[in-house]
Amino acid sequence: MQIKEPVKILDVPVHPLTMGEAVSALEESITSGEQAFVVTANAEIIMMCQEDAGYKKIVSQDAQLVLPDGAGAVWAGRHLGYKVPERVAGFDLYCQLLDKAAQKGYKAFFFGGSTGIAEAAKAKSEELYPGVQVVGCRNGYFKEEESQAIIDEINASGADMLFAALGAPKQEKWLVRYREQLKPKILMGIGGSFDVFAGKMERAPKWMQDASLEWLFRLYKQPSRFMRMMALPKFVLKVVFNGKKA
Ligand code: UDP
Repeated sequence: MQIKEPVKILDVPVHPLTMGEAVSALEESITSGEQAFVVTANAEIIMMCQEDAGYKKIVSQDAQLVLPDGAGAVWAGRHLGYKVPERVAGFDLYCQLLDKAAQKGYKAFFFGGSTGIAEAAKAKSEELYPGVQVVGCRNGYFKEEESQAIIDEINASGADMLFAALGAPKQEKWLVRYREQLKPKILMGIGGSFDVFAGKMERAPKWMQDASLEWLFRLYKQPSRFMRMMALPKFVLKVVFNGKKA
């Protein structure tokens, strides 16, 4: 996979690609047969990397592509003096890849969410991207010893793209642990994206996304995320006071 050099945000590498470049790079992994594990790194993920060395290794060394997800990651990159063309949000990339899959006949597998959510997301995908082939669905609540059966189900489906919606860092840890056994060429963690497609969770209106206020909308909808969202101001402070261009 030929991609631009990563920039470093709090010692986490992030590839400053546009959405179009990210989709092309990932499509190339399907056509070349070279597997790509992609992480959409938002401020919360970058902060998790500061405290969890194992997760930092996954994002820094195991991922082929790390994209700037969210206003925080883009702001931090630019604040540190790098050129970061745009935000490549996980949810938007997931939509773009489904669109590409519908056009080119690539197959997708939906793994994650509570019972019935992946199936509901599949139905929504078929409505939004006519012709898209979602060749398997599996909920994300399982015991570790069931992983082999899940891998077998994914491989038997013939999927080219595996979307794992288990939340960060669980989804990335699972994908990296089993990536050598997994046959899909694109491995991507997408957090709560199936919940959005299934109508269980709303995405912020476009104006809020454009005003970099998606975090505020999520806090309003899910006040229980308050503690998790404290990562955002901590991230800003850390970038301002400790961040430096590598
Ligand atoms: N989830 C799952 N298995 C688990 C834990 C979580 O499938 O063991 C799902 C959960 O149902 C939800 C998603 O993972 O659909 C996590 O969503 P969240 O918004 O927390 O993820 P984020 O985008 O913030 O990483």
